[in-house]
Amino acid sequence: MNIHEYQAKQVLKGYGAPVAQGVAITSVDEAEAAARQLPGPLYVVKSQIHAGGRGKGKFKELGPDAKGGVRLAKSIEEVVAHAKDMLGNTLVTAQTGEAGKQVNRLYIEDGADIARELYCSLLVDRSVGRVAFVISTEGGMDIEAVAHDTPEKIVTLAIDPEAGVTDADVAQIVAAYGLDGAAAEDAKSLFPALYKAFVDTDMSLLEVNPLIVMTDGHLRVLDAKVSFDGNALFRHDDIKTLRDETEEDAKEIEASKWDLAYVALDGNIGCMVNGAGLAMATMDIIKLYGKEPANFCDVGGGASKEKVAAAFKIITADPRVEGILVNIFGGIMRCDVIAEGVVAAVKEVGLQVPLVVRLEGTNAELGKKILNESGLRITAADDLDDAAQKIVAAVA
Ligand code: ADP
Ligand code: MG
Repeated sequence: MNIHEYQAKQVLKGYGAPVAQGVAITSVDEAEAAARQLPGPLYVVKSQIHAGGRGKGKFKELGPDAKGGVRLAKSIEEVVAHAKDMLGNTLVTAQTGEAGKQVNRLYIEDGADIARELYCSLLVDRSVGRVAFVISTEGGMDIEAVAHDTPEKIVTLAIDPEAGVTDADVAQIVAAYGLDGAAAEDAKSLFPALYKAFVDTDMSLLEVNPLIVMTDGHLRVLDAKVSFDGNALFRHDDIKTLRDETEEDAKEIEASKWDLAYVALDGNIGCMVNGAGLAMATMDIIKLYGKEPANFCDVGGGASKEKVAAAFKIITADPRVEGILVNIFGGIMRCDVIAEGVVAAVKEVGLQVPLVVRLEGTNAELGKKILNESGLRITAADDLDDAAQKIVAAVA
């Protein structure tokens, strides 16, 4: 689960990290009052969308010469003018894709006097099984280019989970950044705080880019991007409330309500499966026969007829789906329940595209009988190979 920058800063502030003062707003009317709460004379108006690259982004409606999604303002009037310009418009960044994202919220923040922009992130480094800092002196808006052109400027430091961030770790980070004075002093509390926030709240990614050294010598978290591990959300009721469903794929929200694992992909064959292994095998064989999956929806072990129907509706709601392959092995899950769910969903939403169903396992015969007697245009398949060939031929 992703959250907005202003929320991420709120979370980090709770752990003692230095962040700027700021106010989130959703309408132009609120802009002036928000800016008045800040010290000035420099303000920053920041688009709140679940994507990075906002500074270099462009608003679709404003043309190529207009300023981006993060703008400095030297007066309260300028803050209001930027808010008018940005709210409700669509920001396209390197991370949003061409469609862009509508800006429904702005964060009006105190402007900082920046001496240096550094890069700092925390992630789970699977190669060593530890949470690791990834740091670079080359922070700011071009970190992707740094990673590509000069990877030696990026340093990884894995943290021992028993010891946490030690003095030696901090010293290594301070040396890598070349910090001294107040910044080196701030580092002693900042890096352990970031690590604690990451572990305590089950983040999967925390990216601070830039982490800045201000002209007064102190460190400040200037941008923050946070993703939480969805599998751990059940133990963080406070974090669940930070969810902004308007930023998420509607189909993924619907799927999560039904406890279905739905993943959108780029092809045109929708897949309903049970189990991750069968999902992979199904997608591999579709590719083997020359097509690409549009998505897969994993209905899991013991799904009800209603859950199967919900999965089917989610798959058919994707306009790119030109054909559907249902590939289910009935173990705990019974094939007749799958068949009933599919029939119920088709009766409700109709069937505009070819549907191939392969059922195997518990009550497979009964499942096939339900499908055959439904009067619907469903192609039954004998095995996985047959099913893949049939659906690929049907959408070709
Ligand atoms: P994004 O990474 O989405 O482009 P950032 O929050 O990193 O957005 O902002 C982009 C740039 O804008 C930063 O690298 C920094 O130079 C500048 N900036 C952002 N916030 C502030 C601020 N509060 N004060 C001064 N400059 C800022
Ligand atoms: Mg940034």
